[in-house]
Amino acid sequence: MSSFTKYFAASACALSFTFTTMTATDNFDYTVDRFADIEVLRYKVPGFEELTLNQKRLIYYLTEAALQGRDILWDQNGKYNLAIRSMLENAYTNYDGDRQSPQFKAFEQYLKQVWFGNGIHHHYSTDKFTPGFTREYLETIIPADARPADFDTLCEVIFNPAVMSKRVNQAEGADLVATSAVNFYEGLTQQEVEDFYAQRKDTTDLTPVSHGLNTRLVKKDGKIEEQVYKVGGLYSPAIEKIVENLEKAAEYAENDAQKNIINALVNYYKTGDLRDFDAYSILWTDDTRSQVDFINGFIESYGDPLGMTGSWESIVNFKNNEASHRTEVLSTNAQWFEDRSPVDSRFRKPEVKGVSAKVITAAILAGDSYPATPIGINLPNADWIRAAHGSKSVTIENITQAYDAASHGNGFNEEFVIDEPTRKLLDDYLFITDNLHTDLHECLGHGSGRLLPGVDPDAMKAHGSTLEETRADLFALYYLADPKLIELGLLDNPEAYKAEYYKYILNGLMTQLVRIEPGKDVEEAHMRNRQLIAAWAYEHGKADNVIELVKINGKTYVKINDYEKLRELFGTLLAEIQRIKSEGDYAAGAALVEKYAVKIDPEIHREVLERYAGLDIAPYRGFVNPIYTAVYDDNGEITDVTVSYSEDYPTQMLRYSRDYSPLTK
Ligand code: ZN
Repeated sequence: MSSFTKYFAASACALSFTFTTMTATDNFDYTVDRFADIEVLRYKVPGFEELTLNQKRLIYYLTEAALQGRDILWDQNGKYNLAIRSMLENAYTNYDGDRQSPQFKAFEQYLKQVWFGNGIHHHYSTDKFTPGFTREYLETIIPADARPADFDTLCEVIFNPAVMSKRVNQAEGADLVATSAVNFYEGLTQQEVEDFYAQRKDTTDLTPVSHGLNTRLVKKDGKIEEQVYKVGGLYSPAIEKIVENLEKAAEYAENDAQKNIINALVNYYKTGDLRDFDAYSILWTDDTRSQVDFINGFIESYGDPLGMTGSWESIVNFKNNEASHRTEVLSTNAQWFEDRSPVDSRFRKPEVKGVSAKVITAAILAGDSYPATPIGINLPNADWIRAAHGSKSVTIENITQAYDAASHGNGFNEEFVIDEPTRKLLDDYLFITDNLHTDLHECLGHGSGRLLPGVDPDAMKAHGSTLEETRADLFALYYLADPKLIELGLLDNPEAYKAEYYKYILNGLMTQLVRIEPGKDVEEAHMRNRQLIAAWAYEHGKADNVIELVKINGKTYVKINDYEKLRELFGTLLAEIQRIKSEGDYAAGAALVEKYAVKIDPEIHREVLERYAGLDIAPYRGFVNPIYTAVYDDNGEITDVTVSYSEDYPTQMLRYSRDYSPLTK
């Protein structure tokens, strides 16, 4: 049950209760690079200078620990990724021929794509990249004596479209393990993996560990071997570097609770024992006092077609005290929202525990959160820990702010939003309602509701992520329109919610399709959830004409005629999704996903792609990190840490490969 929010602010900014400076007027250069379907941005780290010296030292070592894990993710994403990266980077750095030729430009674009995907597959679609240059060309820029021993194999992996074509295959009916290129399993079928974990699973255990979270399964000579990610196990050289930096960070912890958290994580990296991971997760969840916080480890399992193994990632951050007021107000009132949620009372939590939420400033993005990054996080993922200790929920506002600033005036709203009054509504209220939607989704949505006794939390199987995200989104959408938000001072206009409603339906019915190639289905969990909600509401509102798709000058537009009815529809669907989850009604969950979330109307798809292409906006965006430089005194003590933003995209990638590659040296 993973719960990362990975969506992107689509549009322009305006009023905000928490932003003091609007970005349209600042001189910061947000755009760093542009290639294929990608735009690379940079983000600011406001408030870093005001931190104490010890907090800066703490952040410095945590960012070092974050960067040292980069190779782990690359290897998890595919077993040839590190070798391919080294080979391509060597060619890119050393080639002294014509760097302006079309073939070299195509080679450079491919390398940029590979960097962005942390491997040879697209970070989002997980399809393998198609190189725009030939093997013959690669041979001309890598002389024979500079080729790695497995050059032929690497070429086969790069150039043969049939080899490792998909990182994470979710297609119905396929053997999801055998057909996914991700490096979590070797020599096993889906059935063998499922049987292996079914045997481990003790359904009477009230505090079950997340089986498979930190292991690679390999079948050798008919026997299944578990390779554990830990010091002395798989990825040891990288994990040792992470541990070394975590241990330095612990010396500068803000308080004992935080020191214990870091030590517990170090302990888990040393033992590889999932009970130790749970012990760490509990300490981490309970610490809501420290200003600096971080995640570092094998957390989210979207990269595994079976949703078991965690992809390595790290985000280091510190609390934005001013903006956190918003989420603290929501958290304080969590029970009010739970008690009035439009679901059957049997499925509500009598007591919502410790829903903590804050707005944070990211200091570094790493592993699976880099360069593409979530804008909100809700952890831990283990249901029993969430039930007993609550969860921590964050909105990463310096990231949403960068998206917002970079999108300003890109023509998107003019193309897709139906009329001027609706565009004005979005200009005035989308930034704040989008942020509030994320807050509600993360700090109340995922934490709400409960399973009936005896219901398996994994009952939704492959549809688990989609339905869980659907549930959290519906909870957020439903309450975004509640007068309670005005009473709490979070919105100042009872019409404001319409901005998010309009954008949500537009995105779910039309504009998110820009990320999908013609003829393909919707696959990613969050995209499925958004289409499920929008398509369901469209169909069930037809009798009352709630949502219309109207044609103006041959172009299709979303028109919402009845926002209040739309809110009722969100409530109705929320009740049904909660029932499905609470009762473990897999058949009903699967039916909803299959009917509404997967298939695309080819006509609308073609039209959206055409209109979008005319705008020249990259469908995907990600970030380069700032550079942190430690200033040392004669005794080797850090006396200051400075932050700068000057690095371009290839320079950063090459620097990371040079300075943080414990698995490639
Ligand atoms: Zn979520």
